[in-house]
Amino acid sequence: MSTTQAAIASAEAHSAHNYHPLPIVVSTADGAWMTDIEGRRYLDMLAGYSALNFGHGNRRLIDAAKAQLDRVTLTSRAFHHDRFAEFCARLAELCGMDMVLPMNTGAEAVETAVKTARKWGYKVKGVLDGTAKIIVAANNFHGRTTTVVSFSTDHEARADFGPYTPGFEIVPYGDLTALEAAMTENTVAVLLEPIQGEAGVLVPPAGYLAGVRELTRERNVLFVADEIQSGLGRTGRTFACEHEGVVPDMYVLGKALGGGVVPVSAVVASAEVLGVYGPGEHGSTFGGNPLACAVGLEVIAMLRTGEFQQRATELGDHLHQQLGLMVGGGAVEAVRGRGLWAGIDITPSRGTGREISEKLMDRGVLVKDTHGSTIRIAPPLVISKEDLDWGLDQLGAVLAG
Ligand code: PLP
Repeated sequence: MSTTQAAIASAEAHSAHNYHPLPIVVSTADGAWMTDIEGRRYLDMLAGYSALNFGHGNRRLIDAAKAQLDRVTLTSRAFHHDRFAEFCARLAELCGMDMVLPMNTGAEAVETAVKTARKWGYKVKGVLDGTAKIIVAANNFHGRTTTVVSFSTDHEARADFGPYTPGFEIVPYGDLTALEAAMTENTVAVLLEPIQGEAGVLVPPAGYLAGVRELTRERNVLFVADEIQSGLGRTGRTFACEHEGVVPDMYVLGKALGGGVVPVSAVVASAEVLGVYGPGEHGSTFGGNPLACAVGLEVIAMLRTGEFQQRATELGDHLHQQLGLMVGGGAVEAVRGRGLWAGIDITPSRGTGREISEKLMDRGVLVKDTHGSTIRIAPPLVISKEDLDWGLDQLGAVLAG
């Protein structure tokens, strides 16, 4: 048995089988490259589902984390600490909003958005207690907690986890008529991904996000944009909503906010919205901890230069141009995406997304399948054009069979 096989067998024996990883065991990583325990190198074209937008081992982020490790790592929110105010102020500024509520994981931030919207509905909008409704889209992915899977349309994500949390209406993604029809006086929020990542990098029809903004404003409903995967540079803008000139009422952020170093998530909104909280009503021991704030501050500083958004735009244009050439060749049915982010529908007769991902792995390129025949490409934004081209050459070779 190889070292890799032994490590995987041990993981299988001692951990729940709630994932189906590719058969590679990573031991080190740098920039856009990872090395496995047997010394093989792989180009990372997934970037931790966008958590590694700034690459593995980014010097600025690692230095910020190391410096903070030697000062103070955790205070809990029982006390103030000297990185908290600056982190919240800078993040609110980046978002053009007033206030931040920091958490750790994406799902926790979504839970926070749900609680915030409900509380705003009761305290500010005047919805009758216990009747608030939140509208979400079909094929959404917002995380794995009990409430979040309650409004998933993915059978695997939901089955056997009921009873489910009520208070959600599901409408087709991209359909403004359906959204308007679902709105009632009890609707407190519309919660959407501006681009649906897990669903296969689905970009909504032009005008959809602007239409959602208009409808929600007219009906005094909060527009909550889950930019956990789409935000912080990935699409060529700080936020994917910017492509339609839209500013939501609430951003839900995660993944890249922690720079691939620590879990950092947050809800960012106006003082009217996040001002609804009083002491004891919500929180998390690790939420907004000094280490998270130190790394998050560096992430924000890096995004403020616009350099990563620019890279995502330029390399993204190149990526989509190259992928576009593959459509119509028989192996690729469709390509979607924006910036350095793509969903590629493989012609089913050429293999499943999993099979294509495994063949790419054998050629030293790491991607991941979603929903049967789709693979996702989301390399770190620091990838070089040469490496990106090399990765695309490997994809071309695998698809050529
Ligand atoms: N929301 C979106 C849009 C996501 O893509 C994800 C994760 O993929 C989540 C929420 C959940 O984040 P986490 O896995 O950190 O809980």
